[in-house]
Amino acid sequence: MNKSMPSGRTEDNRPVANAFGDTPASMKAAVLQATSMDAPAAAEIMQESFEQWMSETGDYLFDKFQAALFSAEGQLIACTHSAWQSEEDRNRVAATACATGQRQEGMTCAAEPLRCRSGDELLSVLVWSATDGWGGPDTNQQRVLQPAAFHLRSILEARFEHVRMKEALYKQHAAETEATRREAMLEIGKRLHDQNDVSSVIRELLAYIESYTPFADFSLYLSQDFVNGDARIKPLLIRNDPEDLYSRAFLEGVPLQDQLKSGCVRLAIPMSGKQAVYGVLGVSFSSRHWDESEFKAFTLIASTAGSAFENAKLYEQSNVLITELQMINELTKRLNQSLRLSEIFEFTMNELLHIFKADHCCVLQLNREKDVFQYVASNLPYLMKEAVPLDYGYAGIVHRTKEPVITSDYWSTRLVASKFMDETGSRSIIAAPIMDGASIVGVIIVTHKSPNFFSYDNYKLLQVLTTHIGLAISNASLHAEVRRMVITDNLTGLHARHYLNERIQSKQRKDPCGSLVVVDIDHFKQVNDTYGHLVGDQILIGVSDVIRSCIRESDIAARWGGEELAVYLPQIRSEQAFRIAERIRTRVEQGTHPSVTVSCGISEWTFEDDKISVESLFYKADMALYEAKNRGRNRIIVAS
Ligand code: GH3
Ligand code: MG
Ligand code: MG
Repeated sequence: MNKSMPSGRTEDNRPVANAFGDTPASMKAAVLQATSMDAPAAAEIMQESFEQWMSETGDYLFDKFQAALFSAEGQLIACTHSAWQSEEDRNRVAATACATGQRQEGMTCAAEPLRCRSGDELLSVLVWSATDGWGGPDTNQQRVLQPAAFHLRSILEARFEHVRMKEALYKQHAAETEATRREAMLEIGKRLHDQNDVSSVIRELLAYIESYTPFADFSLYLSQDFVNGDARIKPLLIRNDPEDLYSRAFLEGVPLQDQLKSGCVRLAIPMSGKQAVYGVLGVSFSSRHWDESEFKAFTLIASTAGSAFENAKLYEQSNVLITELQMINELTKRLNQSLRLSEIFEFTMNELLHIFKADHCCVLQLNREKDVFQYVASNLPYLMKEAVPLDYGYAGIVHRTKEPVITSDYWSTRLVASKFMDETGSRSIIAAPIMDGASIVGVIIVTHKSPNFFSYDNYKLLQVLTTHIGLAISNASLHAEVRRMVITDNLTGLHARHYLNERIQSKQRKDPCGSLVVVDIDHFKQVNDTYGHLVGDQILIGVSDVIRSCIRESDIAARWGGEELAVYLPQIRSEQAFRIAERIRTRVEQGTHPSVTVSCGISEWTFEDDKISVESLFYKADMALYEAKNRGRNRIIVAS
């Protein structure tokens, strides 16, 4: 017998807790394979097997013999008698048998390795001892015990086999369940990614969870405004509270799980894409329905939904962006086609009503002379030409801040008093400044009767559109200014000659008649010579003022050249033109200092004339003027 210290023992000869330390690797693998279960479960099987064996064997054997069963790892599993002759000897032979896999003889007992029928799996080790002295190998004792050991081996083997079979069945069932789940997961993954709008992704997700876990309660907590009427979708309120599972899952971006006092298991699974976390899927199971594998399954589905959600969102955003760009492009193209301010205002108002599906829209233009905002376009015609103080209402806020403003409900916020909002019954409003460089030149207001009607995107879009409208307006204003300069005489402020020509030409195409009065200052050369050119200029300006004061807005006064002025009177016959010229003549005579007089020549045209032209009209007026000069000046002659 090997007297050296057997393996599986400590230096003071106690069995080590785990005799595996010195077990050959092949045997260790075989044991694991044989049981493929944890040590307590295997110990339980061995214990049950031992009890079955004892009851089947009968007491007569155990009157003479003691038996103890050790696990393959050297752990004592069960024993027939509570007291043992020499426990030390017993444990030592058991450990050696475990370690070597060989039968061992001790001083008071023997250890028999029990292998399964195929021979290489060590199931356990049975230790024998006789109550009236151990005879050693090759005795009668041995012949009695051998079949009993075989019997125990069969029981052990049958029980382990049974467990292994149950395990195999369970594994197969689990594999099948997993396969079904995977298939469903694949299907929903495909379905989710097929959607290109956010609502459909959410609808698919909810429908899937509903059918997948009909017994679980679930909600989807979304971090962004999302309204589709589904009660299972809730806003995610971020609280910095470690107790709030959903907030934590959202902020940390990791799936979490906890168990409530009721035993109910809660999952909080973040729905995240590559760029952000969009929400949290909250699921709660009663403990009866809870299965650990659900955690993994929900994590997978939520991350699939997250990436599908992100894709759909990006797709929607790019679509919105494209639509907005098209809109901006179209608007600027149309705006740039027109250089007339009134047309631009009108077009802007109609376009914005259409783009924002708004109830009302108005454009207010800053009038610097009167320091008011003037309505220059509105779908409420009665407002046109009305004016409001610069600090009043929403235009007032925009004027003060030079920033756009959005109010989701005027009724509940009452940010400012607004007659416009009150009269139109509007509750939602977006307003933006029209800028020309750094200065505000107007305000655009868009409103709707329903509260919360305009989105943040609408607000941003109005801001962008207003920039373009501002450019178009300043373009048109610039153009109008240049045009005004071109058609205006610098000194007198009257129109330029070419403008008068154009206007008479256009009037002659539409009107039935009209008159032209040519006004020439008498002896003006002398005035210049006497008082100097500067005074001459003042006289010229004074006479121009007189002319302006004597005519209507629809009449057109111009500087014809030098000190000759002309007035065209649309749809006026020469008799009436004479009276107007007479008024000019007398007012000049009385109102100029130094006093000057004027002579006038008048010509007229009617649609009945053979030949209607601007040239002949001027020619005739000039002839009449010539005659007036000849007849002594300070008089009026009507061309015959
Ligand atoms: P008549 O009664 O025949 O019209 O005599 P007149 O001196 O007014 O006529 P004439 O055509 O001989 O002289 C016109 C003068 O008007 C000559 C010119 O110096 C003066 N004149 C023309 N344009 C201006 C102007 O812009 N400013 C000044 N101060 N004088 C001007
Ligand atoms: Mg003159
Ligand atoms: Mg002259």
